[in-house]
Amino acid sequence: MGIGGQALIVGVGGLGGSAALTLASAGVGRLVLLDHERVGPSDLGRSALLGTDDIGAPRAGAAAARLGTLFPKVEVVAEDRRLAPAEALGRFSGAGVVLAAVEEPALQFLAGVAALRAGVPVVHAGALRTTAQLLTVRPGGAGACLFCLFEEPPTEGELPTAQRVGVLGPVSTLAGALLGAEALRLLAGEHGAYEGRLLTLELRSGSARSVAVPRRASCRACAPLVTGTGPVAAGPTTSGEGLPSTAAIGHPERPRPTDGSAAISAQLLVPGLGEGQPRLAQARVRVIGAGPSAAPALLSLAQAGVGLLWIDDPTEGSVDPPGWLHHPAAATQRGKGAAASLSTLRASAAAAPYPTGGVPTATLVCAPTVTEALAAAEQARRAGVLHVVMERDADGGSVVVVPPGAPCYACARSASTAWRPWQPAGAALACLAAAELVMGIALPSPVGVRVDLARGVPTVRTTTRLAGCSCAAAKAVAR
Ligand SMILES: [Zn+2]
Ligand SMILES: [Zn+2]
Repeated sequence: MGIGGQALIVGVGGLGGSAALTLASAGVGRLVLLDHERVGPSDLGRSALLGTDDIGAPRAGAAAARLGTLFPKVEVVAEDRRLAPAEALGRFSGAGVVLAAVEEPALQFLAGVAALRAGVPVVHAGALRTTAQLLTVRPGGAGACLFCLFEEPPTEGELPTAQRVGVLGPVSTLAGALLGAEALRLLAGEHGAYEGRLLTLELRSGSARSVAVPRRASCRACAPLVTGTGPVAAGPTTSGEGLPSTAAIGHPERPRPTDGSAAISAQLLVPGLGEGQPRLAQARVRVIGAGPSAAPALLSLAQAGVGLLWIDDPTEGSVDPPGWLHHPAAATQRGKGAAASLSTLRASAAAAPYPTGGVPTATLVCAPTVTEALAAAEQARRAGVLHVVMERDADGGSVVVVPPGAPCYACARSASTAWRPWQPAGAALACLAAAELVMGIALPSPVGVRVDLARGVPTVRTTTRLAGCSCAAAKAVAR
């Protein structure tokens, strides 16, 4: 397996799990999953890959087993151990890209510096509360590495962690899908969207920032790569010699909550979202579409604790490419197949085919065509129901959020009438749509927004009404 076909993922929790699904959907030749933890109850709230039956099993092995079922053609290697400084360099040198999807700062920094030394691009990702962050570092590039930004890895307890302050499951899955899409760009030899740019996506305020972060000339970690006098110029070693801050790396394992329910509530307890949790638990969400483009959204909604998922897709049989939820060999009615897969993966998930005439709390539109999307959105608008419409575009697409009374989808949609076929990198768009819907249910806002996702970078703007549109007659619902 040559470079370009192998991705190494450090950490297969929420972030690493959806990144792995994105890469496997794209048919990446070989995936190496490195994780030393075991599946805990809190993983179920974040991971699109791990299921109820996996609790207690090694995360790497459980993730590899599920990927093997969904994507039998992809070679998946599970390594149930903690990344160690002494072996990191040798471990990374054959990879086309390294995905640093681990929460522990010491391991993020170790993955970053070892990838630099091994001459492999690395993508760092993190998710906390309702915020996702991504940064790509290419060896010898002009952009900052983690050491340029922080100088030293933060010590344990210095930074908030999802384990302590919580993370909204769909935000973690979204960050992982963006991470996977970025890794695909790098494997294809393209410029990374987050190279020298730190992306911060804040779902709660609905803002996205992509800020240039140049390399720091005095940085100990990446400066030698540029001048050509550092350890890389002398060839990779396996000793880990010359890696900065080895003292801070490899500290003892974090204590994890042992009580299952406490762990679940800790990760769902996002400050300010307290009252939103019961709203999600009571919600009935109708999802239109259950093909590969909708599967990441269905998983995200189940993670968020949505009370009931009504899956509306009567398509018979399956000609789909493999998706996040079930393999096309499982030929059945799509809606029923997706509901069955979700229930298998999450014992707590309530999913059923949409009952004709059922009135949902909110609707997610993942329709295959513009015409069907317009019809579904209009039906939801007339019913006075929050709806989010996903439209696939050249490299990403758009998500339109329509709360009751806001400019309708016809007012806010793209001028383009031809949607692109589903691409593996499009999983990020489905995750974004689901995350927007979850935020809209948990913390209702009367403002309609449109998020354009182009090459991994979202742009958020408020929607406006077209002159003369009949949606102006609708009464805005005061919240
Ligand atoms: Zn640096
Ligand atoms: Zn309108």
